Amino acid sequence: MNRVRLLVLNAALGALDYTVPDGVQAPPGTVVIAPLGPRTVTGIVWDDGRLPGREIEASKLRPIREVVPVPPLAAPLRRLVEWTADYYCANLASVARMVLASGGALGGPTTTTEYRLTDAEPAGRLTAQRKQALERLMGEQGTVRELSAAAGVSEGVLRGMVGAGLIEPVQVAIDRPYPRADADHDQPDLSPDQSRVAGELVEAVRARSFAPILLDGVTGSGKTETYFEPVAEAIRLGRQVLVLLPEIALTENFLTRFEARFGASPVVWHSSLRSTERRRAWRAIARGADKDGAQVIVGARSALFLPYADLGLIVVDEAHEISFKQDEGVRYNARDVSVMRARFEDIPVVLASATPALESLHMASTGTYRKLDLPSRYGGAELPPIKLVDLRMEKPAQGQWLSAPIIEGLKARLEAGEQSLLFLNRRGYAPLTLCRNCGHRFKCPNCSAWLVEHRLSARLACHHCGLETRPPEKCPECGEADCLVACGPGVERIADEVAALFPDARVAIATSDTLGSPDRAAQFIAQAESGAIDVIVGTQLVTKGFHFPELTLVGIVDADLGLEGGDLRAAERTYQQVAQVAGRAGRGEKAGEVLLQTRHPDAPVIEALANGDRDAFYEAETEARRDAGAPPFGRWAAIILSSENEREAREAANRLGDSRPHLEDVTILGPAPAPLALLRGRYRYRFLVNARRSADLQGVLREWIERQDFAPGVRVGVDIDPYSFV
Ligand code: ADP
Ligand code: ZN
Repeated sequence: MNRVRLLVLNAALGALDYTVPDGVQAPPGTVVIAPLGPRTVTGIVWDDGRLPGREIEASKLRPIREVVPVPPLAAPLRRLVEWTADYYCANLASVARMVLASGGALGGPTTTTEYRLTDAEPAGRLTAQRKQALERLMGEQGTVRELSAAAGVSEGVLRGMVGAGLIEPVQVAIDRPYPRADADHDQPDLSPDQSRVAGELVEAVRARSFAPILLDGVTGSGKTETYFEPVAEAIRLGRQVLVLLPEIALTENFLTRFEARFGASPVVWHSSLRSTERRRAWRAIARGADKDGAQVIVGARSALFLPYADLGLIVVDEAHEISFKQDEGVRYNARDVSVMRARFEDIPVVLASATPALESLHMASTGTYRKLDLPSRYGGAELPPIKLVDLRMEKPAQGQWLSAPIIEGLKARLEAGEQSLLFLNRRGYAPLTLCRNCGHRFKCPNCSAWLVEHRLSARLACHHCGLETRPPEKCPECGEADCLVACGPGVERIADEVAALFPDARVAIATSDTLGSPDRAAQFIAQAESGAIDVIVGTQLVTKGFHFPELTLVGIVDADLGLEGGDLRAAERTYQQVAQVAGRAGRGEKAGEVLLQTRHPDAPVIEALANGDRDAFYEAETEARRDAGAPPFGRWAAIILSSENEREAREAANRLGDSRPHLEDVTILGPAPAPLALLRGRYRYRFLVNARRSADLQGVLREWIERQDFAPGVRVGVDIDPYSFV
């Protein structure tokens, strides 16, 4: 009888020991089902000596029940799980759960039922709903739920149509292979710069060893075309590629280009896949490219922890994006973990960006990362100049937000038949609503935040907890009717302002509210490309990835907005956002122009943007970080304690504060109420920890926090390398 220690996928249980019956193979990495009391648990056989557990006499151990028929998780992935848990002070089981992302991947049925239209002629007259379904479902196949969404009719209507023989069920094998990508399907002609960089990247793939590479290319330089070459090389070698993208709205654009280059779609991975798609992708990823499995996987950050059979390359596109940082559960940064994964797998990793994170540039300057540059736009387009509009001099009219220069710019573009983009990183109509009569402000009952008015959907919404209510007819405080006034602008209000100024302009709002699904994003892109939109008003969603050749004006409504709030890297974030959104202008043959409204034209970051002097900005920011002991020179961690009971949260925070370690190289600030002192009904207190590089930050935190006994209602969250701090 062989004895094994399991990493059980239940954070409360930790590691448990079992025996393996004779004749059963269960090397480290094997996924097994084991009995626990009257139930069973899923676990992963872990390497000897790497998991602390209780030593129990062999005779008391129970045998595992069964080995799950999936390939054992390879050692590099097991090391990654350990590293992630260790570095982010997270629970090993929670990290391991990300690997086995879908319980469904491990077992369950192998076929599923989908539905599609039949050829049958409808007998008699059709109801309007059935007619609509017949029109919209042409060529579609999916579950009843998916078809209901695609057709815009209820599931009941579709079931009725199944009964009437208009829709039929089909059995499909869940694990059927994906269409194969062809490395040489349609090779583009690369510019000399692109060829040089692509050549180096291809070499790195051939070398089959760890190489972190920063691909620093200006907006419109063709980073995607360039990194497709090493992707092609990996496909030729029969190895897998993971491309991480920050935002699902970007995927559609990427998929189109990928298909054009490789003749087939990549395998897509994100959190809203349905369970059969998840299972299919997971198993294809675990099979490997050469065994009819997945070749190229495009995914959101969670794709980083999947069990690739033979990974040959990782690309992180838009690597500066903060959406790579997960702020719940295991709080990890997919950009940083991707470098670790590449290291454990011994493969190259490419971080692509026009505005790299200061941390990444620092790694390049110290020689830890190799830096490859694409200094100019593809096809000879020029980067647009950024002109400042000083809002103290150029005051917009009362209750309006666009200054005369932007209005003139819009007018000129409309007359020339060109597109404009107005950027404001605020969803909804107005960030604050009050009662004209008594001054009552509409606040979220669960969060310390104002409710944001969304006129398109006629709702007041909390952007933190998702609460939505209908705007009341009367003020709940004073009872006055029709008394609500909007304060400040959101994108919807800017769109109204444009519509009032230019009644004939075709205005589109681009935010996660309007482009939330891949379908809607694709629709928006198609419209913008065909010239059916004159003015786009958008949030940070439009700062990246889009390429509209007719877009020649970008107006930044409020460049100062990013400098406020709880962002620990406010100046850098502002720089990146403005540079990215500015990069949408003048990508085609016509030159672009960027107008930036600000009340602080002298702020260093605004000056650097106006002068187009990226190096000066990064140098100044680097010095500021060095002085503050901020990353990359020192390190930060945040601790948030929360409870539904205010007193319980405060007392826990105070007690933790009282037992703080006093160390030379670690400074602990707090406790203080978090800026979002109430979030989703939980009261929050925080500490900010600043450590020198010499300190064992994680060790200090673990030792400090694990000594405490917290009341059961108290949650403690540790955030290593935090971005937002609210
Ligand atoms: P970036 O990501 O660097 O901002 P993109 O990869 O979006 O730039 O490229 C900008 C545009 O130029 C895209 O429409 C892309 O298809 C086009 N492009 C870039 N390189 C080439 C090339 N070698 N051949 C043809 N088109 C290219
Ligand atoms: Zn809320």
